[in-house]
Amino acid sequence: MSKTSEERSLLVLENYIGGKFVSCRSYIDSYDPSTGEVYCKVPDSGKEEVDAAVAAAKEAFPEWSACSPEQRAKILHKLADLIEANLEEFAQAESKDQGKTITAARTVDIPRAAYNFRFFSTSMLHHTTDCSPMDHMGCLNYTVRCPVGVAGLISPWNLPLYLLTWKIAPAIAAGNTVVAKPSEMTSVTAWMLCKLMQQAGVPPGVVNVVFGSGPRAGDALVSHPEVPLISFTGSTATAQRITERSAPYCKKLSLELGGKNPAIIFADADLDQCIETTVRSSFLNQGEVCLCTSRIYVERSIYSAFLERFVAAAKKWKTGVPSDPSSKNGALISKEHLEKVRSYIALAKSEGGIIHCGEGLDKLDLPQRNKSGYFMPTTVITGISDSSRVMQEEIFGPVTCISPFDTEDEAVARGNGVRYGLSATVWSKDVGKVHRVAQQLQAGLVWTNCWLVRDLNLPFGGMKNSGVGREGGKDSYHFFTEVKSITIKH
Ligand code: NDP
Repeated sequence: MSKTSEERSLLVLENYIGGKFVSCRSYIDSYDPSTGEVYCKVPDSGKEEVDAAVAAAKEAFPEWSACSPEQRAKILHKLADLIEANLEEFAQAESKDQGKTITAARTVDIPRAAYNFRFFSTSMLHHTTDCSPMDHMGCLNYTVRCPVGVAGLISPWNLPLYLLTWKIAPAIAAGNTVVAKPSEMTSVTAWMLCKLMQQAGVPPGVVNVVFGSGPRAGDALVSHPEVPLISFTGSTATAQRITERSAPYCKKLSLELGGKNPAIIFADADLDQCIETTVRSSFLNQGEVCLCTSRIYVERSIYSAFLERFVAAAKKWKTGVPSDPSSKNGALISKEHLEKVRSYIALAKSEGGIIHCGEGLDKLDLPQRNKSGYFMPTTVITGISDSSRVMQEEIFGPVTCISPFDTEDEAVARGNGVRYGLSATVWSKDVGKVHRVAQQLQAGLVWTNCWLVRDLNLPFGGMKNSGVGREGGKDSYHFFTEVKSITIKH
């Protein structure tokens, strides 16, 4: 059957297995979130494709794991160079696929993807292992660390290449081979990366990318008996499913999950800096960042002034066409997600919440071709009880809720009063107070008087339902290797 002109113009992705691009029997439609139109076909892989990818990764493992860390580092550096050389092409593709602004992709996502390879290629060269002499027993004990084998890597749609490379880079730098599955909604830059793998000289089978849906390709990967390790970033609900599916094989799991992150703002905070940063921390990337602030607790004496200034600043955070340099936010990932985010606004209204700006109040000025895109203006809500689903569940959109508090203890208790524990921010000039509050907050990351300052050497991950395990620097080295204790009797 001959193809229609529309089909001919679609981008068609292929799996990358054993160093070759391989087509698939069936495909999933992928949408441009800024127009709502299908523009790409993504392989709908299942067990057969995952089996082939795991076999290729297994075959490549002995040689890759036997390379010196320096040899591996050289290849990873080459990959970083190639991403940087193609930065603009990657940024345009990430924006079209995900809906984020080109500026965000150009300044955050793609540079960070390159940096992930640079950082882990060098950081892996500097780890040492332990040694403990037992002279009274005539023994010397020491530890060695070996790559685990085939790593299964599953990443979400919000920061597609950024989070995928955050996993691929440490996994292969440590000597593992990988089978990666990006989100079916944002697969394009992963496919582009595979072309660079070939150019950088990554040996066939070291990195395999299988595209498809979570329930088919993802499930086949997490339940594959020859994949001993899974690094997953995504929702808490999917993590629970992955934990169940991998349990019969006792896999090593690293789970980076959702958040419902509080900002606690005391009366002595530097309000100029605090408001500017908290607007960014609430709305960056359309609010589709696991670390975004979604509950803002403000000391009552400054509450009214804060609210007025915050709403004014939020209104200036422009939502518009992703290619427009003046847009701060682009489109949300999908129609379903837009509807889900909107449903929380409707819920807030039904519970007596006040919508200060955004959804239902502010009209977006979009060109005709973007009228069916998944855009939503930045929305600020007050008057919602802490027990409401709006304050308890991860909305993952450009929505934030503000509420007053009276005492430090109350702020900490309310900050901790959700099932999540990923990140938190604290704003005060009182150094004793910020230490005290940071110490008590149940969160894997606490920023005081700033947000999203990241040193990749530090552990990254969440407490409670926000995750299991930590990655970054030494923690990634530990996760992507197995430790062995050896005792020598002399
Ligand atoms: P999902 O959990 O829906 O999906 C994440 C990945 O898992 C996707 O590749 C998805 O595939 C795949 N998947 C879905 N079902 C299964 C399954 N049964 N078995 C194996 N894999 C599966 O999350 P989202 O993509 O919606 O991402 C948003 C979530 O990610 C938010 O909760 C956010 O907080 C969290 N996140 C956490 C971060 C952290 O570091 N803590 C960072 C960024 C995001 P597919 O999409 O193709 O179906």
